[in-house]
Amino acid sequence: MRTMPERIQLKSPEQIALMREAGLVVARALGAMREAAAPGVSTLDLDAIARDVLRDAGATPSFLNYHGFPAVICASVNDRIVHGIPSATEKLAEGDLLSIDFGAIVEGWHGDSAVSVAIGEVAPDVAELSRVCEASMWDGIAAVRDGGRLTDISHAVESSVRAAGRYGIVAGYGGHGIGTEMHMAPHILNYGKAGKGPRLVPGMAVAIEPMVTLGSRATRELDDGWTVVTTDGSWAAHWEHTVALLDDGPWVLTAPDGGRSELALRGVELSAAAA
Ligand code: MG
Ligand code: MG
Repeated sequence: MRTMPERIQLKSPEQIALMREAGLVVARALGAMREAAAPGVSTLDLDAIARDVLRDAGATPSFLNYHGFPAVICASVNDRIVHGIPSATEKLAEGDLLSIDFGAIVEGWHGDSAVSVAIGEVAPDVAELSRVCEASMWDGIAAVRDGGRLTDISHAVESSVRAAGRYGIVAGYGGHGIGTEMHMAPHILNYGKAGKGPRLVPGMAVAIEPMVTLGSRATRELDDGWTVVTTDGSWAAHWEHTVALLDDGPWVLTAPDGGRSELALRGVELSAAAA
């Protein structure tokens, strides 16, 4: 018996423009949270900031009640990699590395993005970890081209991290298709050989999200049923953007500049839709 490949949702340029609206809400909220994240601030304070941005924009949270998730952001500090639950009692401290993941829905279309934020002055290896993780995300985004293959993205992310030094690339979690749902086909590993999987074609939208650690790639879930931590206690970074592919190039929907500056550094021209 043949198994049908999972269908990948293709969007029209008009639908991608709506996804941009969601992406800009996400970018605005992450910008505001980044600005507010400081020693003494709780991660639930940041969740409240995201709720304010959603309310002002008339947008809906992607995460709240997603399989029962209790907040609008994921806040993951230090050895927590992803899916951390915001807390009123736990305050951020000087030297922490906070990963904030946030998604918003506008007119039924999702945007999904994550940043790692240094709280005050962080150790040099922690700052470098976040830089390496972010650069690998942009290298993955630069691999989103018409006629390419899905694992070109995976391979670009992995190559970027490996070239930077000895890091763990988290297994078991990765990027995904996105559109009328937050998590859609295809799943995107952050490692692997290039040239495999579905062909990349205009109309696709994907969230690319490397998770990189200072130690091992192994993870476990805490008893809260959500928080994913490194098994060896090493610190982790997480960066994510939602990117759409149009006929004439990519558009990073959750980046305020559409990805222009980072992709120019990598010799990639944006779609004219991003102008
Ligand atoms: Mg996310
Ligand atoms: Mg995601």
